Amino acid sequence: MSENILEDIFIKRSQQKKKTSPLNFKERLFVLTQDKIAYYDYDFEKGKKKGLKGSVDIDKIKCVEIVIPEDNAPPERLFPLQIVYDEGPLYMFAKTDDVRKQWIHKLKHVVRFNKDLMQKYHPCFWEDGMWKCCQQEVKQAVGCRVLETRNGGFSKGSRRKSRKPLPPTPEEEKPIRPLPPQPPKQPGFSVGMTVIAEYDYSPMAPQDLELRKDEEYTILQICDANWFRAKDQYGNEGYIPSNYVVEALNGLEKFEWYCKNMNRSQAENLLKTENKDGGFLVRDSGRYTGKYTVSVFTKGGGENVGSCRHYNILTTQQGLFYLAEKHYFSNIPELINYHQHNAAGLVSRLKYVVSNRTQNAPSTAGLGYGVWEIDPRQLTFIRELGNGQFGVVKYGKWQGRHDVAIKMIKEGSMSEDDFIEEAKVMMKLRHENLVQLYGVCTKQRPIYIVTEFLPNGCLLTYLREDLQHPSAVQLLEMCKDVSEGMAYLESQQYIHRDLAARNCLVDSNGTVKVTDFGLSRYVLDDEYMSSAGSKFPVRWSPPEVLLYCKFSSKSDIWAFGVLMWEIYTLGRMPYERMNNTEIVDKVAAGYRLYRPQMANDRIYSVMTTCWHEKADERPTFQDLVIIIQDVLDNLYETS
Ligand code: ADP
Ligand code: MG
Repeated sequence: MSENILEDIFIKRSQQKKKTSPLNFKERLFVLTQDKIAYYDYDFEKGKKKGLKGSVDIDKIKCVEIVIPEDNAPPERLFPLQIVYDEGPLYMFAKTDDVRKQWIHKLKHVVRFNKDLMQKYHPCFWEDGMWKCCQQEVKQAVGCRVLETRNGGFSKGSRRKSRKPLPPTPEEEKPIRPLPPQPPKQPGFSVGMTVIAEYDYSPMAPQDLELRKDEEYTILQICDANWFRAKDQYGNEGYIPSNYVVEALNGLEKFEWYCKNMNRSQAENLLKTENKDGGFLVRDSGRYTGKYTVSVFTKGGGENVGSCRHYNILTTQQGLFYLAEKHYFSNIPELINYHQHNAAGLVSRLKYVVSNRTQNAPSTAGLGYGVWEIDPRQLTFIRELGNGQFGVVKYGKWQGRHDVAIKMIKEGSMSEDDFIEEAKVMMKLRHENLVQLYGVCTKQRPIYIVTEFLPNGCLLTYLREDLQHPSAVQLLEMCKDVSEGMAYLESQQYIHRDLAARNCLVDSNGTVKVTDFGLSRYVLDDEYMSSAGSKFPVRWSPPEVLLYCKFSSKSDIWAFGVLMWEIYTLGRMPYERMNNTEIVDKVAAGYRLYRPQMANDRIYSVMTTCWHEKADERPTFQDLVIIIQDVLDNLYETS
């Protein structure tokens, strides 16, 4: 028998196999093991497990996700989750959101290599012969909402054991099997949907439509993941960047304090950066929960370093909202308004609105829809940022307004035609942890590569010079940023080939973004191109790259482990005392980087899994995102 992973009392909803049979709710003891989730009758008086009532085999599970609670759900049924398998959904209600999170997290982990994991699911209950979310009347109907990547989009077979030794091949590894399609970052946009602009957007290309913050727009066409065609209230039509709008759902979008899609750690970061006593924001308690959390920053008692508190907005049976007992409101804006004037049990009254929207608008994929050739006359050069493999990099403005970084490609340093072709593909890659490519100027020499500008510059310099006494959370957040950007590249089957701290940049709020992905293929410099060359990133390369030039997402994983090591040593040179030849020999013989002082065993074990000799045994970036989040959650709990 396998060991119990989790054990808790849940309310279980009867499975209502017949449309007309009444629903009932019973308390059951649920036990999760590696093979099964089983539920038992429970003797509350004796505190003992009684007879087995049923079970679901782990390998039959297709989806694990929260469910949006029923309207006016009683307090004991506020935290439902669903386990979908052949026979439909099994609904369980957790006592608290934390218990639910813990179970979902573990369940997702044990099912991650299952066949037939669902890409879409139903966010509401199946009840009386109908899905409450989409009104479909067939229980088997495909879900109406796309799951977030980490909820089921694990690459299948990523832990497959290699059956034969790595063949020596000079070519890059082709992905063994296509990964499941990457759902868009904000799932669920569709034609005809009303959206609200979260930022102003001034048209960058003639066909673009101006966005005015907080106004409503209708989506006319989904051009790609990054651009929509849309109509405003006055009938004007044009292209808009998809990451500037959110679905108009709950009416909260227009409030400055509402930060949709923000998680707990992002909220803490933002509040700490603002560093204002009573700074607050409202965020979704989790994805699709339909619940909200107020996060408040307090410097309590005049300490210098403040801390964050998180309060869930609760609802009464009558549907009233409250944070503190005795203060009930018919809607969330009224509740916030009240607590802006009265602490009433909170650690502080809500004094300052802190919003991600008051910061810079996010970068768009390109400077206007379909634009990738930029007119160099629209660029103003302001100052030099540094010098790299391809020459000088400058900070400047595009059209006098938009911050950009401009790489001026030294002639003879790049195979330009190949790069220009590739740039069209690179332009489509968009993720908040990747430095956005805006476009290129190719009609003159030197050619320019125009990208998003990150004020805090190169991560390696930042680690060495700017970070003083970083906290455990801060260091791990950096790793998480990189792992998320890389998980996106991995999902696009895009190999970085030169991941290292020197190829990451730091934003004004401390967010780390990955840059120069794929660029090494266009370098013309023998010292850089050959693994025997002095500029080849030997210290970041796994044995199969050093021996056979076999690049893959798994070689990026190795480099990620080294990058984590750079972060935890605040920018030391890996294998400091060894030269490249020694490194190649020693690494092939099993030698690995030591545990940095600032990394505990758990963190170091994440690094060492990235340095597994066999590429197949290394985790994927999607695995890493989850592992790192898990360690972060624990850190938050203990800090
Ligand atoms: P290359 O990739 O051509 O070797 P780098 O990307 O390393 O050049 O750029 C050289 C330096 O310029 C970096 O170390 C960094 O300090 C600065 N830099 C490059 N791109 C940006 C950017 N987008 N925002 C801010 N600084 C940048
Ligand atoms: Mg670089």
